[in-house]
Amino acid sequence: MKKLACVTLDMEPDYGDPEKKIRLLENPEYFERYVSIINKYNAKVTMFTVTQLFDSYGDLFRKLAERIPLEFSVHSHTHDPHNACTLDEVRNSQAAYEKFRGVKPIGYRAPIGRIDKEGLGHLLDHDFAYDASVYSSIRPGKFGYFNLHMPNSPFQVQRSDGRSLVEFPFTSIETIRIVFALSYAKLLGWGAYSLLLKLFGLPEITLLLSHPYDFYFGSIPNNTVNGLEGFAMARNTGREFGIFEKLLGSLQKQGYTFAHLSEVYQDVKGTGLKNFSLETWK
Ligand SMILES: [Zn+2]
Repeated sequence: MKKLACVTLDMEPDYGDPEKKIRLLENPEYFERYVSIINKYNAKVTMFTVTQLFDSYGDLFRKLAERIPLEFSVHSHTHDPHNACTLDEVRNSQAAYEKFRGVKPIGYRAPIGRIDKEGLGHLLDHDFAYDASVYSSIRPGKFGYFNLHMPNSPFQVQRSDGRSLVEFPFTSIETIRIVFALSYAKLLGWGAYSLLLKLFGLPEITLLLSHPYDFYFGSIPNNTVNGLEGFAMARNTGREFGIFEKLLGSLQKQGYTFAHLSEVYQDVKGTGLKNFSLETWK
């Protein structure tokens, strides 16, 4: 199978920012740097968007779409981790997406990966073709998970009525299951992270996780995220764009072709993906 890499950008307000801005779009320096790196590597971006932002940020989203190969997808309607995939969130996000794009969305990503059995059922009821919310790794803390039983490659979730969708888990580095994400590369530093990439590698279908604030978290004024989390997230401040560029460069060097997630979906559906039944979902 062809090696495909998908750059995903979870479009949501800057984490811990009292002003709730999105500086990647609002700060021209960040915006231009991002655009130039994406285009330098001929990358394609699938943007999981918090759909209530279409009203306030629609013009800036269109501006970004004019400059890079950008595909829209859904990242819930309000980004409430306690209601990540409720019927209201699924229904409202679908309606907002359709209003903005003129077509129904095919993909969903729940905030912090908090998809569950009911949520997957809502997605099936609303004709979503894929979900991209399952972590195949471990995260400690309040919104933690222990998902080493999950595959690190796309699989199918099927309901007893015959309906199904493709699940794209967040890609992890193989074996050690560290998330393939700009935030983790920043946390560990490029020296250590690139060594792990080299030693353990990535699956043939790879999704890179990023958020706008990953590019400048340590420079957000009066950030409310402090303690260990704030410290961890502010590691390598000033090097974020450079590390992002190295991530894309390493994908290119390993022979990956960049694709939108909808293209990857077309490529993998019906290819005998491993099947999980919704009824027995963890
Ligand atoms: Zn998010």
